Amino acid sequence: MNSPQNTPAQAKLMPNADLKHRNTFGLDSVADIAFEINAANQIPAVMGDVLEKNLQWRVLGGGSNVILPKVLSGATLLMNITGKEVIASDQSSTLISVGGGVNWHEFVAWTLENNFPGLENLALIPGTVGAAPIQNIGAYGVEIAQYIDRIEVFDTKIQAFVTLAKEACQFAYRDSYFKQNPNRFIVTKVVFRVPKTWQARIHYADLAKQFANNANPTPEEIFLAVCKIRMLKLPDPNVIGNAGSFFQNPVIPNEQYETLVKKHADLVSYPDAPGKRKLAAGWLIDQCGFKGQRMGEVGVYANQALVLVNHGNGTAQDILGLAKCIQDKVHREFGVSLVIEPNIF
Ligand SMILES: Cc1cc2nc3c(=O)[nH]c(=O)nc-3n(C[C@H](O)[C@H](O)[C@H](O)COP(=O)(O)OP(=O)(O)OC[C@H]3O[C@@H](n4cnc5c(N)ncnc54)[C@H](O)[C@@H]3O)c2cc1C
Repeated sequence: MNSPQNTPAQAKLMPNADLKHRNTFGLDSVADIAFEINAANQIPAVMGDVLEKNLQWRVLGGGSNVILPKVLSGATLLMNITGKEVIASDQSSTLISVGGGVNWHEFVAWTLENNFPGLENLALIPGTVGAAPIQNIGAYGVEIAQYIDRIEVFDTKIQAFVTLAKEACQFAYRDSYFKQNPNRFIVTKVVFRVPKTWQARIHYADLAKQFANNANPTPEEIFLAVCKIRMLKLPDPNVIGNAGSFFQNPVIPNEQYETLVKKHADLVSYPDAPGKRKLAAGWLIDQCGFKGQRMGEVGVYANQALVLVNHGNGTAQDILGLAKCIQDKVHREFGVSLVIEPNIF
């Protein structure tokens, strides 16, 4: 595994780098200068130069949670740091260290092949391991935060490598310390703590239905079921450009929920923190009649109103224009504000 102690090697510099195939919306986008980061020890030199020249900069993993403009000025760091290894194991858990550029789904598959079950509910989420903590990825009742021990980052504020313990990462629903401090941290390595006791989590409706006749599924069966459900529900970015869920599920106070549910008896919601209720953003959008609608080159996916799609030649402006229409209408109808999930560069 690459580590900051290794001999520094220069990052490959690519002027006018085409990013169309490095963002799942498939947006036409060119980076003025891209640096391919294959090892953590390439970062200090790159960032030293970028900060000295006062260039704009950002990090790009797999591009599955971003909205890119036509031109990305300044420097774009393409995170390709690989490597995964078991670094410790005791009676209760296994510690696994993984490079920030490793493909998330491949890592999940690897954990099962090597008998470290736990991450199977998070199968088939696109993107890299290094980006996963940024918005604390989650699916089917599991969030990555539950499995993180610590994270190794380059802190551009002090221009040094730092290790952040899980508690310092301030994980919350689709949120973290990294997201709260954009353009500061570059995740080079994530250390996971996978407990040795395993329990199936199949309480989410889709999984519960899948296992109606099998109360004790194996991790592999859950992994396969999650993959199957996701392939049926979500559009494949290789076929139609998208960034998964486009809006976060809004969390509202119980009093507001009580008022809403009196007007909309079929309002879809889930329990949340005490005094709060989480609404299904997809349901709200669907009620406003957007599902399957098209606005020029972009639209709302026909099978899932929470997913915005690029039909081919859409731009960031097209996507954000449609998002604004949806936000305005949902606010008019329900008095609820929808927050955009992907990062707008
Ligand atoms: C079809 C589809 C389904 C999806 N389903 C889910 C889901 O179920 N649950 C879920 O939570 N998300 C989901 N997503 C969103 C996305 O997969 C995740 O947010 C993923 O973690 C993004 O990874 P990435 O490498 O593509 O990040 P990118 O899109 O490249 O970047 C996302 C953000 O992270 C930052 N970043 C990336 N790498 C690093 C790094 N090494 N260090 C610091 N910052 C970094 C970027 O600057 C940017 O702000 C889905 C997306 C798609 C397209």
